[in-house]
Amino acid sequence: MPSLYIDGTWTSGSGDPAEVINPFDASVIETVEQAGPDDVERAVAAARTAFDDGPWPRTPAAERADLLRRVADLLVRDKEDIARTETLDTGKTLVESRIDVDDVTAVFRYYADLAAHDAGRLVDTGKPSVVSRVVHEPVGVCALITPWNYPLLQLSWKVAPALAAGNTVVIKPSEVTPLTSVMLVRLLEEAGAPPGVVNILLGDGRSVGAPLTEHPGVDMVSFTGGLATGQAIMRAAAGTVKRVAVELGGKNPNIVFADTDFETVVDNALTAVFLHAGQVCSAGARLIVEDSLHDDLVAEIGRRAERIRLGNGLDEATESGPLVSAAHRAKIEDYVASAQAEGARLVAGGRRPEEPDLQKGFFYRPTVFADCRRDMRVVREETFGPILTVERFTTEEEAIALGNDTDYGLSGAVWTNDSGRAERVARALRHGTVWINDFGPYVPGAEWGGFKRSGNGRELGPTGLAEYQEHKHIWHNTEPAPARWFTSGGAR
Ligand code: NAD
Repeated sequence: MPSLYIDGTWTSGSGDPAEVINPFDASVIETVEQAGPDDVERAVAAARTAFDDGPWPRTPAAERADLLRRVADLLVRDKEDIARTETLDTGKTLVESRIDVDDVTAVFRYYADLAAHDAGRLVDTGKPSVVSRVVHEPVGVCALITPWNYPLLQLSWKVAPALAAGNTVVIKPSEVTPLTSVMLVRLLEEAGAPPGVVNILLGDGRSVGAPLTEHPGVDMVSFTGGLATGQAIMRAAAGTVKRVAVELGGKNPNIVFADTDFETVVDNALTAVFLHAGQVCSAGARLIVEDSLHDDLVAEIGRRAERIRLGNGLDEATESGPLVSAAHRAKIEDYVASAQAEGARLVAGGRRPEEPDLQKGFFYRPTVFADCRRDMRVVREETFGPILTVERFTTEEEAIALGNDTDYGLSGAVWTNDSGRAERVARALRHGTVWINDFGPYVPGAEWGGFKRSGNGRELGPTGLAEYQEHKHIWHNTEPAPARWFTSGGAR
């Protein structure tokens, strides 16, 4: 089946086909066609024409919202099928994939509602003869480039607001996990997106992603992925002064004070870091613990980490799946070796699993390191895998300083029963999302994004719609008259 969608037609790509691999057992799920340079040109041209001459940007917002609602209904209809495919492609458990599809559905509904009521605003100029208003217009052709850890979810955070605002899009999913993005485009087609409004190109970053970021026909790039790629994209986009929104990595502190309920914090600290085998941008990979609780907490977390059941994401008994690829596992093994070389104390994991049925897949045991210092590579860099590092603190100021001692600034958490302290720490942390006595939840109505090198711009919430809009000021003087600024020529 053709896997590229350009100008309202499913089409074959002129690039080399690629095998999509199931990380559970390294089997081939499907072979997909990929785009070549001519496909990139065709997709951008289609999106350009649909934007410049097509009906979509001029369609009333309420009708655009109707399309998003139809997509949400179709997602409900196909939930099980999509969730299964996401699990095959990423290795995450089916429970997680189902939650992802529910969240994606909620995002489409949220932006449908928001777009329908987004009428711009009037500005009071103090002059009765002037109408000053700010209108919201789409940016244009948007390239949406997404990662492999939450393929469908990350795409929804971009495509729903981009379409709600009246843009046209060229989607470039990760070459590692393209399958559910193709499914979503099929639903957009079924929901009635006009030709050229939604296009999808499969292929890798070098041959498809990079040309989109340099292309003069593209007005905006919205990217979620790694820091180095984000930096390359910002450089590439400079030539044409594109709007760029980048959601990058994180090294997220999970700060625990000793007055917290022990079982609650053990349980949540494990979920914070080991969900989806740690391949989560907001993973709580840096546990920062008050001295008096430290030893007991480390021991119990280590004991429980050793018991996490690895397996096939499709098996309901599985608690955590594999890493996404052999290359990614090799990266994790390198981080483990560096942590040991730098003096961290291995408390759990640090090895591949022994079970015979897990040998073909890209599995790695949940790993816990104690006695970590902030200058260690494993503490400073995003490992994006099942590695928890533990540091300790004595005072609140120390906890805050440790939590902020990172180049990243995506998310963090503080656990304490003292609400005054919770608020102080939450306000002091330089991260885009801070949870108090929780870790991980988000809602479509609240902004998501990074401080510092975790990115710029915001997804979700009203700001997530504004990312895809130009805010144009229209000044209407209803009683034009000479200004009489330059009078030396003599007024007539
Ligand atoms: P990646 O940067 O390797 O790839 C992301 C996407 O960019 C892929 O589609 C890839 O093909 C494309 N790409 C690669 N090189 C490119 C180039 N030169 N020009 C244009 N496109 C290019 O990231 P990944 O490994 O797929 O994803 C993991 C990263 O994503 C982690 O760092 C993680 O923290 C981050 N992430 C961030 C968030 C967030 O909300 N901030 C969410 C999910 C993932």
